[in-house]
Order: sequence, then structure tokens, then C-alpha cells
Amino acid sequence: MLAAQALDALDMAGRRRTLRAYDRDGIRLRLPDGNVLVDVASNDYLGLAQDPGIIDRAAEYVARFGAGSGASRLICGTLTAHREVEEKLAAFLGTEAALLFGSGFQANATLLPALAELLGGEAELLVDRLSHASILNGAFSHGVKAKRFRHNDLNHLEDLLKEGSGPRMVVTESVFSMDGDRADLAAIADLADRYGAPVYLDEAHAIGVLGPEGRGLAAELPGRIAVTMGTLGKAFGGFGAYVAGSRLLIDYLTNRCAGFLYTTAPPPAVLGALDAALDVIPSLDMERMRLASMADAVRMAVQAIGYDTGASSTQIIPVIAGTEQAALGLQQILEMAGFLAVAIRPPTVPAGTSRLRLSLSAALDDHTAGQLLTVLSCLPPPGLGLPG
Ligand code: PMP
Repeated sequence: MLAAQALDALDMAGRRRTLRAYDRDGIRLRLPDGNVLVDVASNDYLGLAQDPGIIDRAAEYVARFGAGSGASRLICGTLTAHREVEEKLAAFLGTEAALLFGSGFQANATLLPALAELLGGEAELLVDRLSHASILNGAFSHGVKAKRFRHNDLNHLEDLLKEGSGPRMVVTESVFSMDGDRADLAAIADLADRYGAPVYLDEAHAIGVLGPEGRGLAAELPGRIAVTMGTLGKAFGGFGAYVAGSRLLIDYLTNRCAGFLYTTAPPPAVLGALDAALDVIPSLDMERMRLASMADAVRMAVQAIGYDTGASSTQIIPVIAGTEQAALGLQQILEMAGFLAVAIRPPTVPAGTSRLRLSLSAALDDHTAGQLLTVLSCLPPPGLGLPG
């Protein structure tokens, strides 16, 4: 199919996307037409992307080490600063070692094949059905054997564990990105243990936000989760990702993970931002508590007018509208009221569950959070006033 035909098909389905560019000023985004929207869409959960301390350290590392790292890690791209922040990150996570990646997508897409290889040729990955596209990419390509279990359904997971006999690994997320619900990690770890399967956990939306001092959900179960990964472009406010686990595991990945080996090492600015974020994140308990109570208030406001927020129990809140048009209608209403939240539609979420994804940040001040609650309380109830 030609690109023009493919785009026409997307147009016909009302799913053609275009990029909008913004200028950012803290939590406010300015559009080219001068309109200003409060950001309740990004994943900068602690506001660290705009934090002066983080920005200064990133600038300091650029001044000291340069704009780029110049080579892949095993050639000569590894600076002392990479080693230092990886050690600091492992200490924060409570693991023996950690390794940086260029992005979360790159990490999941290449770690899973490398781990499947480590487990042996017949290894099978058992993956939560609602896992992020990067996990699905890593598990269902490169000749990896994988099956999906129904979202957070431990009975289904157990059925799949019973079926096989070769090495298996359970793959899930701490917090699901489009639903804001959590995996029952303790139960998953127990089940996986019973079948001798290691657990791989994506902490993208939990790290910095949940767990003791923001150390993620794996930190609540010390020593139980074999492999954790997380992203550094969300609550950490920077860019990139990590994988963490035993020293041996990290040494193996240093040698065998294509997404680590064949790519330029993360640049100094990213290392500086990460170094500074690691200094402050453990002390942000007040911000984490504010974020959790803001999320409770938002859920109550939208549920009061009849919207389903699924099993959300975190800073990510889906306002489930049903049809794509209804979700887009909610996005438009919020935008007219000065807030940017994005409608999420198939194929990202199943048909009939299109939603407005609210993604809250501790950087929202009380006044603005109050305005958001007022706007949400005035939304037309589901099925009323919105097409579909
Ligand atoms: N895992 C999850 C659960 C995510 O939500 C995302 C991105 N939104 C990623 C991985 C990919 O991370 P990155 O943006 O760093 O590529």
C-alpha cells in the first residue's frame, strides 16, 4: 500500500494523527495560536522535568562532559558518570546492579528477546494482555515464544503456567499506562515462584511515585522480582530507561542485549538529570501523598457524574467515555476550559473503551487542581450531550 493510501484509510476511519507543537512554561503549554493549556496529559508526575535543580545538574554535566557520548557503551562511550549513576540507581532500587538504556521502548523491545535466549530455546514468556506496546514488541517478535494472559487474571496466568513444562518468565507492569490500575505483584510473585518462573516487571509509571520513597512496587517485595525495568522520562523528569537485577544478570545483558550494545551511550545531560533526580526523589513523600489525594478527588468527581474510571488507583485516571467520538468530545470540553488531556482510542485501547486519560502531576498547584475538579464536575454525564 502506498503511504498516501494508508493515510487516506486512517482519514476515513477518523484516526489520522498529526503532531501539535507547544511551548512549555512549567505546567502550562502554549499553542501556536497563543492559547494556553494546563498539562494533565504528560507523565512528568513529580514536575521534575521543569525543576531548576534537575535542569542545573543536566547543564553542569553538559559543560563538564559535552553534548554527546560519541560511541556505544562497549566501544568508548562509557563515561565514569555512567558508572556512577548506574551504581546510584542500583542503590536506590535496592538491587545489586543497574544498566541504562536509551529509552523504555528500546529496553523492553530488546531485553525480552535477550532474556528469552538466556532462559533457553524453548522458553516461553507469559505476558499481561494490557502490557505496553514495547513489551508486546519484545515478546512477540524476534522469534520469541510468548502467550498473553488476561489482564491481571491470576487464574488465567496459572492455567498458562500449568500448560508448559519448559522455562517460563512472567512479564507484567506495576501500573498500567492507559488504566492506572496496578498488578497484584505479591500474588504474581507467589504464583510465579510456585512454578519456578522469574518475574519481569515494568515500573514505568510507578518508579518515583509508588513504593517506599518512590522506589517502585518491586521495593515492597525485596529479592522477589528477578528483573525490573523503568523509564526515566516520566517521574524522573529526564529521558531513558534502566534495567536492574543481580550483578550476573546485568553482566549478561551488557554482553547480549542488542538494545544496549548497538546504540550510542546516553548523553551527559541525561546523566546529570538522573543524578539530580536520584538525590531528590526519596525525599518527595509529601508530593507523592498530594498526588495520591488529588487522584482520589478527581476519581470521585468524575464517578459522581456517572463515569467509569476502571480499576484506577494511581495518578493515571481513565474517564471511560465508550465511543471514540465521546472521548474526543471530552478532550474538547477540557481544552475549552484550559486543560490538555488526551483522548485515547483503539488500537491503543480496546474498541468501546475510548477514554480521556488524565495524568496528574504533583506540580499542579492547589488552585489549578481545584479548577480542574470544577471543570470535571461539570462534564456532561456519559451518554448525554456527547455524540455516541
Ligand atoms: N513501558 C511503559 C509501561 C510505558 O508506558 C512506556 C511509555 N509510555 C514505555 C515502557 C516506553 O518508555 P519510553 O517512553 O522511555 O520509550
